[in-house]
Formats: sequence, C-alpha cells, structure tokens
Amino acid sequence: MARYIGPVCRLCRREGMKLFLKGERCHSEKCAIEKRNFVPGQHGKDRKSKLVGYGLQLREKQKARRIYGLLETQFRNNFEKAALQKGITGETLLANLERRLDSVIYRMGFGTSRAQARQVVRHGHVQVNGRKVDIPSFLVKPGDEVAVRESSRNNPTILSARDATAHAPAPSWMEVDREGLKGRITGLPRRDELVQIQLNEQLIVELYSK
Ligand code: SF4
Repeated sequence: MARYIGPVCRLCRREGMKLFLKGERCHSEKCAIEKRNFVPGQHGKDRKSKLVGYGLQLREKQKARRIYGLLETQFRNNFEKAALQKGITGETLLANLERRLDSVIYRMGFGTSRAQARQVVRHGHVQVNGRKVDIPSFLVKPGDEVAVRESSRNNPTILSARDATAHAPAPSWMEVDREGLKGRITGLPRRDELVQIQLNEQLIVELYSK
C-alpha cells in the first residue's frame, strides 16, 4: 500500500501544530515545531493569511489525513464508507480511522507513532483473535483480542515502544495488558478520545460534500 515517504516534520509545520508523527522525538526539544514553527518553503515566514471557507476545510482534512498517515484516495474512501454508515458522518469517519489495526497498536503502546505501529503490523508481528493479520487498515470491533504474536514477543522495536509509551494511558474502549503485549477491544471509540489533536471533522464533511 502506498504511503507518504517525504519529510515528516514538514507536515506538522504546514499545519502549524504538532501532529505527533515521530514518536518520542515529538516530546523532545528536537521537535521542528519547537524550533521552526512557520510554514515550510522560501516565503514560509512571511505567510500570515487568515483561513476561511474552503481553505479552512482543506487544512482540517489534510490534518486528519496526515495524523493517520493516509494518501488522498485512501482517506476519501474512508470518508465514503463512513457516509454510508449510520450516525454522524464526521464522528464515524474518525472512529473508523481509530479502529484501524495500526492505530490500535499505536494506542496500545506497541508502537511509538502510527507509522511505526503500521510497520509492526505490516511485518506480521500482530494477531487478531489468534490469527495473524498484516493489513494496517484492518478494522477491529468490540470483543476482538489483539496481541503481539508469540514469535515476536522479544522484538526490540516493540519492547522499546512499550517502555517509551508507559506514561500514555490507553483509551477507555480497550483493555491493555502491556506486560502480556496484548489487549481487548471493549467498545467503540468515543469522540472525546478519538485524536489527541484538536480537529473539526464537520469541516471535512463539508469539504467532501461540495
Ligand atoms: Fe516532527 Fe513530531 Fe514535532 Fe511533528 S510533532 S514536527 S513529527 S517531531
């Protein structure tokens, strides 16, 4: 599956806020937002435009897309699926993005960022209900048991991610056994716990509804 492979901190600088895309570095003084919080590019420092209308909607969509590491087509497909489901489309979209297996592994603390969690999944280190799943977009549902596979329990990347994220509490819709490198999905993501970053999903709905 295609993914963005360009400079990552540039994405945060474009949005003017921390998107927490790089794990531990995001909490250190090396974070680019701490050092150079202006739009990338030659005239970035001079850009002071106030966003309204389409510009605001576009930035909100880009922010969400970048947080979850999706390309435009993948994000749009997620939106279209959410629009067909019952409930408020914007909230359903974010809940579906949170239920992706890579996002769940990140939330469980077995990856320091969603990008690292995606790699953990892609490399076949994860199982759901006892069966190996290496598809990052796999959607978990209440009752699913997610675990690091027996053969990957000594994987240094996963173990160091678990130690590095010890301070981060898991959301209420999952139970995590950090020592056992496993967890259980107990419900659906709640809106107030969906993303750590301020996001107005209604603007995304408005953008795609034009
Ligand atoms: Fe880079 Fe993380 Fe800082 Fe974003 S939050 S600029 S990804 S270090």
